[in-house]
Amino acid sequence: MKAYDIVVIGGGPAGLAAAAAARENGIERILILERDKELGGILNQCIHNGFGLHTFKEELTGPEYAARYIAKVQEYQIEYKLNTMVVDISPDKVVTTISREDGLVEIKAGAVILAMGCRERSRGALNIPGYRPAGIFSAGTAQRLVNMEGYMPGREVVILGSGDIGLIMARRMTLEGAKVKVVAELMPYSGGLKRNIVQCLDDFGIPLKLSHTVIDIDGKERVKGVTIAQVGPDGKPIAGTEEYIPCDTLLLSVGLLPENELSRGVGVDLSPITSGPVVNELLETNIDGVFACGNVLHVHDLVDYVSEEATMAGKNAARYVRGEFESGTECEAGSIVLCGENGVRYTVPSTVAPARMEDTLTVRFRVGNVYRNCVLCTYFDDECVSRRKKMVMAPGEMENIVLKKKDLLARPELKKITIKIEEQ
Ligand SMILES: Cc1cc2nc3c(=O)[nH]c(=O)nc-3n(C[C@H](O)[C@H](O)[C@H](O)COP(=O)(O)OP(=O)(O)OC[C@H]3O[C@@H](n4cnc5c(N)ncnc54)[C@H](O)[C@@H]3O)c2cc1C
Repeated sequence: MKAYDIVVIGGGPAGLAAAAAARENGIERILILERDKELGGILNQCIHNGFGLHTFKEELTGPEYAARYIAKVQEYQIEYKLNTMVVDISPDKVVTTISREDGLVEIKAGAVILAMGCRERSRGALNIPGYRPAGIFSAGTAQRLVNMEGYMPGREVVILGSGDIGLIMARRMTLEGAKVKVVAELMPYSGGLKRNIVQCLDDFGIPLKLSHTVIDIDGKERVKGVTIAQVGPDGKPIAGTEEYIPCDTLLLSVGLLPENELSRGVGVDLSPITSGPVVNELLETNIDGVFACGNVLHVHDLVDYVSEEATMAGKNAARYVRGEFESGTECEAGSIVLCGENGVRYTVPSTVAPARMEDTLTVRFRVGNVYRNCVLCTYFDDECVSRRKKMVMAPGEMENIVLKKKDLLARPELKKITIKIEEQ
């Protein structure tokens, strides 16, 4: 059986940055496993710009952003295998892969970095009544068809869901000559970034109907139209608000879910909120030497944060391989629990061990509603230690706070850090 110090699963921006960081931290034997025919992950189909403003202080397209990390991986001569799907990871870190070229192969890893990204929620998960006509696509599939394979999914389009992919595709389909009639969003707020609403809908005069959903799909062979309706606070359609919209295409942009089959299979504890692994401040899961980063951990808004987080996972995996810290719950007995309350849905990480952390730790989270003129508060047990005024916070945008090691070491009795939203 071949053995590597670190095996990275997924060759998207998270996997690439993690592998590069592991090499920069002195690890020689690194292997990236990617099921696709090229490195770069979802970025290869994101040909719009807007990537890398934080990391490179430039506006890059998705492929350009990915190319910078691919170049680094190649410069560092990090080994990678394409067209290779990981089908299993055992708790003692034997990674099983399958590929046309090599068949079934087992690889022994010193540490594993999970970087498998996320997948789109499907129509099945929504239970929209109607037949199963042609013309219904997830927004990401439509993006791949248009941007990578040169096919146009349709001409008259309705988009359900206002996540970033839906917003980006509203603009893309318009630029390709389609008429995007409406973007319907179940929630009273958009799930996407504000800048995407402005640049992808407002600039093209595409209406966004909040608190609306598709209640029926018309057409047997091909979509002929959809019926949308307003929904009440309970999320149920309001009788009398139905509107029939003729169209030949329905794009679904109704959420992303971490690819968690491999994580679940190896016994990683998953968060019921993010559906991704529960991790400590090192981004290590409950399984010794198994780390997670990127969209497989929690769905990110900006790829820059993916790269930042993955760099940390790569560095910590390198420290693990060198035996610089011990894993396991007994080593984390002194850990402080991190949690969200009053609208803060979750935190990544979920615990922090002050003795092991770096000088600072960025804790990322999302809020569950739109909050205006509020205060983001951090509590150390019952004591409020920080109040940050926020004009607006929305579920589509990731938020963060930064913890300092010296502050935590100064409070050896501290058990819990809570992040809350409060009124001004
Ligand atoms: C439509 C769209 C628009 C976006 N727009 C922006 C934007 O404007 N600006 C911005 O900053 N960010 C944007 N993002 C977000 C950004 O692209 C993601 O945050 C980032 O790509 C996530 O990186 P990742 O490596 O975690 O996941 P991915 O890029 O999804 O990579 C995961 C990789 O793992 C591989 N994989 C999965 N399972 C296995 C397995 N079992 N075996 C082997 N390989 C496996 C996959 O094939 C894939 O290559 C956008 C995302 C989308 C989808």
